[in-house]
Amino acid sequence: MKSLEVLIFLGPPGSGKGTQAEILTAKLNFSHLSVGDLLRENIKNKTVLGKLAARYVSSGELVPDELIIDLMDSYIMNIKNQKEISGIILDGFPRTINQAIALENKIKQLDVNIKSVLNLDIPDQKILNRLSGRGREDDKPELIKNRLEVYRNQTEPLLEFYNDRSLLDSINGDQSEADVSSSIINAIKAEVA
Ligand code: AMP
Repeated sequence: MKSLEVLIFLGPPGSGKGTQAEILTAKLNFSHLSVGDLLRENIKNKTVLGKLAARYVSSGELVPDELIIDLMDSYIMNIKNQKEISGIILDGFPRTINQAIALENKIKQLDVNIKSVLNLDIPDQKILNRLSGRGREDDKPELIKNRLEVYRNQTEPLLEFYNDRSLLDSINGDQSEADVSSSIINAIKAEVA
């Protein structure tokens, strides 16, 4: 089996993870998994997963770990079988320590390694400004507040988790799209060199 590289995008809602993941996917020969997009698509198409996930997504809570871990599992297995793809950008996964441990276990079984965990850092006030202009269902002010709290409580502990593993790169997310993108590319190159 070929070796696959994984890049993880961390950062609060509105930090630019999705945008930056797309820019980088286009530059590298990588595949982009946006768990949020995948969930919204499942909800729209009323799949079994969509029906189970809907109430969590619409209230800004995290979907239970088991569902998300299964999703990640089948995604990685599927990509492993696609010879032309050299890596995966995980955008919005992991979001809990349990998910991060499940990912670690999964990649131990396969020929996959985490190349870098990119934390897009941005002040809360900027987040509120950005998200209120986006118009997504879960971008209403009271839900944004909840999603930020969920991020601080459940996802932020991952910064220490990955820092302990020397995988964390913090990026200033409060710059232009192009500048954030070059900072990310520099950080990855620095690690590859
Ligand atoms: P996002 O598009 O990344 O902001 O995700 C939108 C919503 O999808 C989140 O508020 C959660 O309800 C759900 N979601 C996305 N990723 C995950 C994850 N890794 N674990 C649990 N729920 C998630």
